[in-house]
Amino acid sequence: MDDRQVLLDALAFHGHRCWASAMGVRMGLAGMRALGVGRSGAKALHAVVEIGDHHGAMCFGDGVQFATGCTFGKGNIEKDPKGKLGLTLIDKAGGRAVRVRYKPTLQPRIKASAFMQKRTAGVPATEIPESEQWELVDLVWDAPEGDVLAVGPVVDLEWTEPEEVVRFAICVGCGELVAEPYLRVTNGEPRCRDCSGYAV
Ligand SMILES: [Zn+2]
Ligand SMILES: [Zn+2]
Repeated sequence: MDDRQVLLDALAFHGHRCWASAMGVRMGLAGMRALGVGRSGAKALHAVVEIGDHHGAMCFGDGVQFATGCTFGKGNIEKDPKGKLGLTLIDKAGGRAVRVRYKPTLQPRIKASAFMQKRTAGVPATEIPESEQWELVDLVWDAPEGDVLAVGPVVDLEWTEPEEVVRFAICVGCGELVAEPYLRVTNGEPRCRDCSGYAV
């Protein structure tokens, strides 16, 4: 799949077209290229994104997930919340990692755009005309790489994989499937947290 198709598919997954998700795709692809690895279909890669919670440009995380295959479902992505568009991509088997950082050279143009003026005024991204959504995506996507991101260096990083428990049980209270580490035992019977009466 060429990069442009990755971008189009990522934006379809994301739900609207925005500069932060496009930068997530671009920075994810740049990190994979620096490590010489492909998309993580299973868990060969691990990503650390530096976005936090409840702030603008968090859409970055969706672009990274789609491009790298490091996803919250597989559990091979995590946040190191700093409110930044930073990505560290780790090649577990290779024992190497690279940090890709966003270079905010286009920020004055992004801030002045019709899209961001409307976002700042509280208009949801999906209610902004498509042409204005594309204007910002194209701005960051078409910019020379060195203008919008910096890659590396590639450094050594020893990875220790946490143990994954693949066992489940049925809660006797609600009948729902529960992953074993989250089971509580009350009166000798397995229960989910909701049915156990325990707070955690
Ligand atoms: Zn977005
Ligand atoms: Zn239950």
